[in-house]
Amino acid sequence: MAEHRRSGHAKRAIYPGSFDPITNGHIDIINRGIAFFPKIIVAVLRNPRKATLFTVEERLDILREIFRKQPAVAVHAFDGLLADFAKSQGARVVIRGLRAVSDFEAEFQMALMNHELNPSLEILFMMPRARYTFLSSSIVKEVASRGGSVRALVPASVAARLREKFRRLGRS
Ligand code: ADP
Repeated sequence: MAEHRRSGHAKRAIYPGSFDPITNGHIDIINRGIAFFPKIIVAVLRNPRKATLFTVEERLDILREIFRKQPAVAVHAFDGLLADFAKSQGARVVIRGLRAVSDFEAEFQMALMNHELNPSLEILFMMPRARYTFLSSSIVKEVASRGGSVRALVPASVAARLREKFRRLGRS
């Protein structure tokens, strides 16, 4: 860890999630986070138990395209424990977004567990702007699957991918 501190790795933060797909709410958190951290690693969890619309590779592709001009944002996939992934990346801070009180209980439990597994890890909660507090990947998928416009909720590239995905699935 001392070595990480010297090399500046200790200032890296990890922003983990499913990002299925990334929304403007996630982007808001990342953009505000880079005001405080020289590097944010957006980490896509490989979770075979969670059914997702986009594959991990598709999500990595989408994220890399969105952040290609922001060298402060790196994109990786990970599996196993977040506490271990953070250690392997030399990151001491995990960022999570808190939208509503309903997010709190699960986040609180997860934060305590991650801290237990890796005591040098700090979990930092950030609140999105009010206009993103209702926004979730699930609601975006719901609207897009029924042919509604999600242009105000996700980057244009994500809206296009959603249209294409649901067209292929024959659902919109
Ligand atoms: P998970 O599967 O871990 O819930 P998500 O991709 O849904 O992953 O979310 C990743 C992180 O981003 C979580 O901390 C979540 O609370 C946060 N988040 C999701 N949507 C928003 C939003 N609209 N505004 C701010 N944070 C958000």
